[in-house]
Amino acid sequence: MFNQSRRNLARWFTLSMGSILVLFAGAIYQIEVKDKLEALDRLLYDKSRIMAASVHYEVRQNQNQVDLSHVSLLGSGSHPLAEDLIYVRWYNAQGRLVRFFGNSPAEQLNTPFGYLTVRSTDPLLGKGIWLRQVTLPVEGRTGVLGYLQVATPLTETQNRLTELQIVLTLAVPLTLGLIALTGWFLSGLAMQPIRQAYQQLQRFTADASHELRSPLSAILTNAQLGLLMAADDSHYHPPLENIVDSAKSMGALVNNLLLLARHQGRLAPESLRLINLNELLSNLATQFLALAEAQNIKLTCESPEQRIELLADPDLLRQVVENLLYNACKYTPVGGTVKIRLVLHSYLAVIQIIDTGIGIPEADLPYIFDRFYRVDTERSQESGGFGLGLAIVQQIVKAHSGQIQVTSAVGLGSTFQVELPLKPYH
Ligand code: ADP
Repeated sequence: MFNQSRRNLARWFTLSMGSILVLFAGAIYQIEVKDKLEALDRLLYDKSRIMAASVHYEVRQNQNQVDLSHVSLLGSGSHPLAEDLIYVRWYNAQGRLVRFFGNSPAEQLNTPFGYLTVRSTDPLLGKGIWLRQVTLPVEGRTGVLGYLQVATPLTETQNRLTELQIVLTLAVPLTLGLIALTGWFLSGLAMQPIRQAYQQLQRFTADASHELRSPLSAILTNAQLGLLMAADDSHYHPPLENIVDSAKSMGALVNNLLLLARHQGRLAPESLRLINLNELLSNLATQFLALAEAQNIKLTCESPEQRIELLADPDLLRQVVENLLYNACKYTPVGGTVKIRLVLHSYLAVIQIIDTGIGIPEADLPYIFDRFYRVDTERSQESGGFGLGLAIVQQIVKAHSGQIQVTSAVGLGSTFQVELPLKPYH
């Protein structure tokens, strides 16, 4: 129980911290992409502005005569800033291509102004390459002279971003591992006081139940003695019988509480014995036959030819089947049937207690294994009991690393199925 809560706590801690971490890593990557692109755009803009400044022109007959001979890569002029440019293109004011450097472009300007990431072909290597392109209008005194389009490769920026990606891909799982370890450690710390409080409660229940046993048995013995002594005086019988009944019922409650408090968690290996389940179930069927017949209930036991054996605490396992059989007989009306079935499922021994009794409402099914839970007070009062029988069954089954399931339909009956792992060497 505590280990499962600890695992859950650690899992949720890792999941929430991990999501924050992944979001954080994603945000860092996006910021880096934006920063790198902005830096590249600034550089590209500076280069194209210098090139635009080298465009000369004169106005003849109201027409701009543009001279590109001083523009690096387009004319004879060269400039160190022109390095790293894949292409440079000059379009006239009408958007028609006039001159270009690099791979041949469309005759008509067909891209929007400003920055754009485009895919092109590397003129030297002849393979696909991502470029950052800028298209700028170049203005003269009398209006737009033309449009300058330049592009630089994104290779360097991409390489930097790939490096960052690798770092993040390695760092995120590593940090996640650290978070999981921290989560496991912290959840262990958080569970400690709860575990201590629970153990104290268990100890208190065990001690209190143990201490109550002696006075209760004294009350019972004295009341029974009183009944014997007052054998001739029927006047005293009802109150004394009342005391005997109450003392017996209290005794049963105290024993159940003690059982619950003592057998918490795993069982001591020395208490385990190799048990023949076929034999155990048929003995119990014989034991309950008298009770079933008294209620006019048909009790049958069905088990396979094959011997099914497992390692278990014999008394506790007996208690499991007894509680289930007792309930089945208690909640099955006259004329009904109760069936015990034993089945082998590869590595599991499956015990089913099937009855045609009053059934359990669907809304109550999730709670019937809780301590002191009783389905409805009316039928509970009729049948007696404290609502501890199934809690004990579940606790014992879990202590044997098994599980218990129930299916039920009101008015039709219930099936309780206990699944127990077979002995390890089976
Ligand atoms: P109780 O001592 O009240 O029988 P249990 O823990 O054994 O306590 O059972 C819890 C509740 O589950 C009972 O109050 C009863 O209403 C219901 N229940 C258990 N077994 C059966 C059954 N075979 N058929 C119908 N109801 C059942």
